[in-house]
Amino acid sequence: MGKLNGKRALVTGGSRGIGAAIARRLAAEGADVAITYQRSAEAAEKVAAEIRATGRKAVAIAADSADSRSGEAAVAATVAKLGGLDILVNNAGIFETGKIEELSLADIERNLAVNVTAVVLASRAAILHFGPGSRIINIGSCLASQVPAPGMAIYAMTKSALVGLTKGLARDLGATGTTVNVVHPGPTDTDMNPAAGDHAEGQRQRIALGHYGTADDIAASVAFLASEDGRHITGAELAVDGGVNA
Ligand code: NDP
Repeated sequence: MGKLNGKRALVTGGSRGIGAAIARRLAAEGADVAITYQRSAEAAEKVAAEIRATGRKAVAIAADSADSRSGEAAVAATVAKLGGLDILVNNAGIFETGKIEELSLADIERNLAVNVTAVVLASRAAILHFGPGSRIINIGSCLASQVPAPGMAIYAMTKSALVGLTKGLARDLGATGTTVNVVHPGPTDTDMNPAAGDHAEGQRQRIALGHYGTADDIAASVAFLASEDGRHITGAELAVDGGVNA
């Protein structure tokens, strides 16, 4: 018996990196899983096929988070394919740097659309299908609370916005038994932030444990919050960052 047997999950941005690891982990715990992607259709289909090979249902859905209709469409497709929805993981995100005077209005709006508005709209659509014991887990960032270098104000703003959203939704949904939490990864080895990348060494020096996290490290915490063991945790921020902000 897995901890998530019978649960239906939607993970946004599940084709690669942290989202793919979360999808695999939730499925390993017994959940059926839908993932969204923007561009990586092949990679997303591969993740879904791997999960189906383990006996769970899995589906990959093309849904650009920058499109305000994507959340509702992805939730509807998940409910149609999996028969319902119990767990929403808002993981899809973009990391674009630049000082605000260097960014265009379109740049700023794109970052807000993908990292914030899409989270609001997917959550709003998902809530309509939730029963008692459902879960929203947002993927934030260690940069939500500390910004150690220039050029990251917009990204940090989008991630700290998720903290307010998480706490407010925890209040709104508490009476229904749904929990809402935000997991803050630190430097985590993915395409977005490769452990062998040009900017890795400076980050590594700030990590108390001395090394990057893996996507599986983040997935383990998401699986815990999604499970019955996480039932009394809501409105919380969980740093999974190797102590980078310690
Ligand atoms: P990756 O860039 O490795 O993967 C991003 C995922 O999000 C992909 O599946 C991608 O889909 C999807 N995605 C991106 N834009 C869109 C969009 N417009 N619509 C739908 N899906 C989209 O990132 P990570 O796995 O590293 O990051 C996952 C989350 O963790 C993000 O929210 C990020 O901000 C956060 N985070 C990551 C950290 C790190 O060090 N890696 C640190 C702190 C937070 P596709 O393949 O189709 O492009």
